[in-house]
Amino acid sequence: MVMTEQAPAIRHMSQVGNVAGISQEEWATAVAAKAGPRTRIGAFEQVHVFWLAGMSCDGCSIAVLGATAPSVESLLTGSLPGVPIVFLHHTAVQLEAGEAYMEPMRKAWRGELEAPYVIVYEGSLADESLAGTGGYWSAVGEEGDGPMEGRRQIPSAEWARRLAPGAAATIAIGTCATWGGIPAAFGNVTGAMSLTDFLGADYRSALGLPVVNIPGCSPVGDNFTETVAAILLFLQGVGPLPEFDDLGRPAWLFGETVHRQCNRAGYYEEGTFAEEYGDKECLVEVGCWGPVVNCNITSRGAINHVGGCMNVGGICIGCTMPGFPDKFTPFYKAPPGTVLSGTSSRLVGSFIRPLRRMTQRDRNREVRWDRSSEPPTGWGASNAPTFVDKIVQGAYDRIRHSDTAAKDR
Ligand code: SF4
Repeated sequence: MVMTEQAPAIRHMSQVGNVAGISQEEWATAVAAKAGPRTRIGAFEQVHVFWLAGMSCDGCSIAVLGATAPSVESLLTGSLPGVPIVFLHHTAVQLEAGEAYMEPMRKAWRGELEAPYVIVYEGSLADESLAGTGGYWSAVGEEGDGPMEGRRQIPSAEWARRLAPGAAATIAIGTCATWGGIPAAFGNVTGAMSLTDFLGADYRSALGLPVVNIPGCSPVGDNFTETVAAILLFLQGVGPLPEFDDLGRPAWLFGETVHRQCNRAGYYEEGTFAEEYGDKECLVEVGCWGPVVNCNITSRGAINHVGGCMNVGGICIGCTMPGFPDKFTPFYKAPPGTVLSGTSSRLVGSFIRPLRRMTQRDRNREVRWDRSSEPPTGWGASNAPTFVDKIVQGAYDRIRHSDTAAKDR
């Protein structure tokens, strides 16, 4: 650990609970200094990121900690050229606790931070008026103006309301924060809603941005860190404003459907479908919604470009979509549209598949093998062309060379 021998002693009571004896800011600065002198690109050396947790399971935090391109570590240590050092304030990974943790948030609220800040919200935002007197659904920190011994916990949603106007950017991570998600599903007893619904469609950050939405349950960690890096480069004045779609999603990450990038899409196109989990074919008939879902999990993978729902045999249940979960239930049942699209694929596939296999057999033969009746290898079955193969491939090759032959004349 870099800092143990240099860690300053705990200096005042606000540091109680800080086992490292050093603030997150001091740690990040010291680690960055160890990496050598930075080449300053852009307006800011550092930016604070306040991570607020609402009605969440912490899955978004776990996903982001696993990000690799870029990694959280590279953001915290300022090792990406042009990206300022990120001072992350997160309840799970913070060095400070208690008032030492809360003070930067209070400073940001008072407009006293000496660097810009971004807020990230994980989980949906509850209607705290439903929590009952003295209770709360999700909160961080406390202040001395409440009913319980003169103190009250400050709901995370209240912090969002306080910090959002002054934030350079406001990012909702995960489907609970972006669209309400599971806490806002049918029977929603907490009044849970998304960050956009909570702040209102007119909300703009200090730099004029609406809420940026990075959905997923849990989201791809890289989708978050890459978007943060792109936004920070924009704030620095060294990168363009990243392109967002009309729901505030990074357009380059959510512009395609799962299906278009799925490694099972070839099976769909040839009309062959899995009948049960574990089969290698397309999963649409066991409940996959991939053809209509905006998500890049199949191309990006879950962590370090590895894994991801369909890549490891799971169906797409639409977890990145605003309609999730109510519009995708019951899960594990084929979507109704499958009757039409699956039947069409089957019909086309039943014609195309045999032709492709015939051409495949032919392309698996060297030209000289075509003239021999001997098995081409010592591995067994003869791949000798049948009479039909010869007729069809002869016609196929004539068509293949027709343009060339015309040009040669
Ligand atoms: Fe499309 Fe799902 Fe089939 Fe993949 S498994 S090809 S996403 S329907």
